[in-house]
Amino acid sequence: DRLSNDFQFIDVGRKDPLKRPLRQRKTQFVEIHEQFKPEAAADQAHRCLECGNPYCEWKCPVHNYIPNWLKLVSEGNILEAAELAHQTNTLPEVCGRVCPQDRLCEGACTLNDGFGAVTIGSVEKYITDTAFAMGWRPDLSHVVQTGKKVAIIGAGPAGLGCADVLARAGVKPVVFDRYPEIGGLLTFGIPEFKLEKLVMSRRREIFEGMGIEFRLNTEIGKDVSIDELMADYDAVFMGMGTYTYMKGGFPGEDLPGVYDALDFLVANVNRNLGFEKSADDFIDLKGKRVVVLGGGDTAMDCNRTSIRQGAKSVHCAYRRDEENMPGSRKEVKNAKDEGVKFLFNRQPIAIVGEDRVEGVKVVETRLGEPDARGRRSPEPIPGSEEVLSADAVIIAFGFRPSPADWFEGSKVDIDSQGRVVAAEQARYRFQTSNPKIFAGGDMVRGSDLVVTAIWEGRQAAEGIIEYLEL
Ligand code: FAD
Ligand code: SF4
Repeated sequence: DRLSNDFQFIDVGRKDPLKRPLRQRKTQFVEIHEQFKPEAAADQAHRCLECGNPYCEWKCPVHNYIPNWLKLVSEGNILEAAELAHQTNTLPEVCGRVCPQDRLCEGACTLNDGFGAVTIGSVEKYITDTAFAMGWRPDLSHVVQTGKKVAIIGAGPAGLGCADVLARAGVKPVVFDRYPEIGGLLTFGIPEFKLEKLVMSRRREIFEGMGIEFRLNTEIGKDVSIDELMADYDAVFMGMGTYTYMKGGFPGEDLPGVYDALDFLVANVNRNLGFEKSADDFIDLKGKRVVVLGGGDTAMDCNRTSIRQGAKSVHCAYRRDEENMPGSRKEVKNAKDEGVKFLFNRQPIAIVGEDRVEGVKVVETRLGEPDARGRRSPEPIPGSEEVLSADAVIIAFGFRPSPADWFEGSKVDIDSQGRVVAAEQARYRFQTSNPKIFAGGDMVRGSDLVVTAIWEGRQAAEGIIEYLEL
């Protein structure tokens, strides 16, 4: 039987949950992976070797108790596994879906040496989805309320991580967001084929059940001032993300038919969720020849959204080679399977067209010597220019921090790149130069990952708890 088999990792290979048929994947905004069946989840979880010093735990940014909950799943103890998963992670079902596991937990699994890593991400998602379906909810009945309350600006993963830890410590979190739904980029950025939106609306109900209050459609600095928050709350946490687009700095970027990645993705989500204010906001790529510029997660999401909208063709041009792409390997593979054509070692130098975009001029590149950070920068090969024909171009070069103008009055220091200064090693974790204000996530790190934003939000909550002397 399974539990007495010490060689499960040899007898049972790594097997990811099934993917939906390509025909459905290419036309519908639904998650591409099906859920594990209980037997398959237990079989896969039992492949874990229970290493004495589990590298996966160290590599996981929130340091999940991975081997422990894998063991519970292999024994069929889903509710206990869910309790344990929530001790370290605010959104395990989200991380299970969107973490680049190949670079994090699964990349560090000992079984990578020839056997195939344990499917850690899919099991994490399975645990949480299954426990919720069984009616499990976090139990906060033992929590003693302290009477303190904290304002949280931003309902993205950083803000939610902070709210979760505070609520469990008896501090009342009130979360403000300018958007009509919680999640930040989880709702208004990452597309449904990676993360269906029901996941976040279910979480909102659970958070509200834990006593977390959301004030949505409320922008700080416009509808409510930072001074009001400072006066009304015992502390403030800022988790406002990064939203200034990086530009290419080449001619033609302002031609009609050239779009910023997030504008395109947000418009698509707004239509799918019924939040669209005007039909003119939607960017429709049906029947168009699309070129996406960039090689990160955002570029992959634009590629795959274009496919689902019915684009005639989708080409993704990236200035380095495949090996050096920043995007998660599994997402690049999914994009390829769904029909995206990759053009590696192509650097855009201009967007061409008379009255609107007609193409992208690119030059071929080769990788030069590694720079001080060990990254090899692409060098153009003279005479290799060509024009890729396009009816629409999406620019996905990433985001820069975007400190609001009200920051000046809040006495929060910002570094030369526009990031809010708040360190894990501060007197109180993630405290800013204004002692009453804490910060975390993309606005502190620069654009990064869901799981690192959750970690910083959770750590900042610990800092706030100490600062409030609770
Ligand atoms: P955000 O998620 O940006 O949340 C910030 C929130 O603050 C927003 O809801 C915003 O409305 C609110 N806000 C800002 N200013 C104000 C204000 N003045 N008043 C009120 N509210 C305000 N990461 C992964 O790990 N895996 C992926 O697959 C992945 N895919 C991605 C795909 C795309 C297209 C993008 C853009 C990012 C992706 N990321 C991915 C990165 C990840 O989404 C971010 O790192 C993460 O969401 C950062 O969390 P955060 O809480 O710091 O900020
Ligand atoms: Fe892996 Fe992310 Fe889950 Fe950590 S949170 S175990 S890195 S999927």
